[in-house]
Amino acid sequence: MQDENYTVNEKGHLTIGGVDALDLAAQFKTPLVVYDVSQIKKQIRAFQLAFEKRNVNAVVSYASKAFSAIAIYQVVNQMNAHIDVVSGGELYTAIKANFPMKNVSFHGNNKSVEELEMAVENKVGVIVVDNFYEIDLLSQILKFRSEKIKVMLRLTPNVSAHTHEYIQTGQADSKFGFDVKSNQASEALRMVLENPQMELIGFHAHIGSQISAVEGFKMEVQNLMKIVHKWSQDFHYQPQVLNLGGGFGIRYTELDQVLAPEIFVNAIVDELIDQCNKYQLKQPAVWIEPGRSIVGPAGYSLYTIGSRKEIPDLKSYLTVDGGMGDNIRPALYQAKYEAVLANNPKAPIKETVHIAGRYCESGDILIDEQSLPETKPGDVLAILATGAYGYSMASNYNRVPRPAVVFVENGKAQLVIKRETYDDLTSRDCEYQKEN
Ligand SMILES: *Cc1c(COP(=O)(O)O)cnc(C)c1O
Repeated sequence: MQDENYTVNEKGHLTIGGVDALDLAAQFKTPLVVYDVSQIKKQIRAFQLAFEKRNVNAVVSYASKAFSAIAIYQVVNQMNAHIDVVSGGELYTAIKANFPMKNVSFHGNNKSVEELEMAVENKVGVIVVDNFYEIDLLSQILKFRSEKIKVMLRLTPNVSAHTHEYIQTGQADSKFGFDVKSNQASEALRMVLENPQMELIGFHAHIGSQISAVEGFKMEVQNLMKIVHKWSQDFHYQPQVLNLGGGFGIRYTELDQVLAPEIFVNAIVDELIDQCNKYQLKQPAVWIEPGRSIVGPAGYSLYTIGSRKEIPDLKSYLTVDGGMGDNIRPALYQAKYEAVLANNPKAPIKETVHIAGRYCESGDILIDEQSLPETKPGDVLAILATGAYGYSMASNYNRVPRPAVVFVENGKAQLVIKRETYDDLTSRDCEYQKEN
């Protein structure tokens, strides 16, 4: 049986990647994060194929802050896709995964000297330079070395994609990138072009997140190509690569309108061809950096239902064994999700409840209003589409160990991140030294 966003087996249980969700919960315990690997691969492939169909030289670079782990880097590499990393920790994880360093883009608005050295040392594919301080640090690091490093300049192209304020990054007042209007960007360009150890391969911009319309990307291409045109005259420089960032929206709830990868890609390619014709510029390669749309829909959070609080004539809380420690998005920016009862997603709806987390914060509500069949303690609840920015933002708040992460593919499950233990929690604590 096939619903639009989940599947059930002959027992009527939710299945993920062909595996019964109740078996996963029994084997690996809850809370548990489960990824359907075939969904991840399909989504990467859909972006790649859309560019191939248009004969456009393109790179799909998975923005790994959405979910970073050795295993996901290995899946992405199997798909011949690139990755974005934003920290030494993500870079280290990619190294441990044997991810080809030439396919790594290093982002961030405050990369440390150690992180930049690590990137240069490991020959990452490209450093996406964000600010003047970084140009300075990188120049100093390169001065004592012989190698050249590929760089891109991150620009803020004055596009604000329609999305939640907390997750906007493309507008002029953003903390990210060089401002184009005030000529900071052209000054940065001059500095990078003058440095013989920096090979500028192109420009980067990222306009926002959870974007559900193509207009923002079209405006982004227009604004970037206007700059490219100007700079091709002022500096006689033309980029090999235009990196348009990520932000492709996904379906969290039935209220979300989503566009297929092909729709985004076609809009981008159409606009790029128009702009290149208009300015008589040669067409750069297009890089995109989807994060959420690669891992979001493929992820499921399994929880065990515990206590229940009824407030007569007001509301009912159903509490699960996880919450803001494994998914802070609802508490952080009112993110919406949908859940199903894993033992019987198709059972008749009985009531609408508030799905509360187990953490000591009133704001720890995973889902504000969820219609559910009758439930009892011990039942497994599955929240859908939790694969992006859930585990990757997980914390040990309340000293709750972070959940395990499991990949399922072709009807088989494999553990990819072990559940934290209480010993893990205290392993870096040091005893208080009493003065005497
Ligand atoms: C976060 C980020 C992305 C990915 O955004 P999604 O909304 O997850 O697709 C891509 N590029 C940059 C530079 C980012 O900071």
